[in-house]
Amino acid sequence: MSQPDARSRASSSMISIHGTSAKAIAITFDDGPNPEFTPQMLNIFSEEGGRATFYMTGDQIERYPDTARLVHAAGHEIGNHSYSHPHLTELEEEAIRAELVRTSDIIRETVGVLPATFRPPYLATDAQVERIAHDLGLAVIGGVNGAARDWDMPGAKHILEASLAVTEPGSILVFHDGHGDRSQTVEAVRELVRALKKEGYSFVTASELLQMD
Ligand SMILES: [Zn+2]
Repeated sequence: MSQPDARSRASSSMISIHGTSAKAIAITFDDGPNPEFTPQMLNIFSEEGGRATFYMTGDQIERYPDTARLVHAAGHEIGNHSYSHPHLTELEEEAIRAELVRTSDIIRETVGVLPATFRPPYLATDAQVERIAHDLGLAVIGGVNGAARDWDMPGAKHILEASLAVTEPGSILVFHDGHGDRSQTVEAVRELVRALKKEGYSFVTASELLQMD
């Protein structure tokens, strides 16, 4: 029967929200580690409480291993964001696998633990990418606040408001701590965390969120 295969190829198992009764969300940062902006994100959580997830590329970890170690030492999750940030859906199976394996190995060598979650660069994913990720023990993580476009520097106010508008219990939010000037993101995330904390939200890692009922 080819029907089930055809259906699974068309559908995505990428997780952008996790059904939970807990008032918790996962705030995530892509494209680090970055020696200037990653520590500023860490400061927000050390001041306000909670944990985040940092989707790092292997090549950035090789450049800034000490920054990756700071993230791990502060109790945050480090996830796999590929080695060189390609469009994985345009690569052959072996090249996709190499991107993910190499980065998981670098994370383990740098901070001592293998990653459990993966964010596809550009959120570009398909059944093959997801099968390979799952083979490697990686849950595929998306996000609900694509309209915030923090990578495009639309202003801290826009980033904040577009993220708040789609936040509900179990939401996964995408931001960036690398690849350019991330000062708007720092400002927006600080305000977001303060506002949501007042509403009773807590901030957990992607892996923690997936385990909540
Ligand atoms: Zn990215």
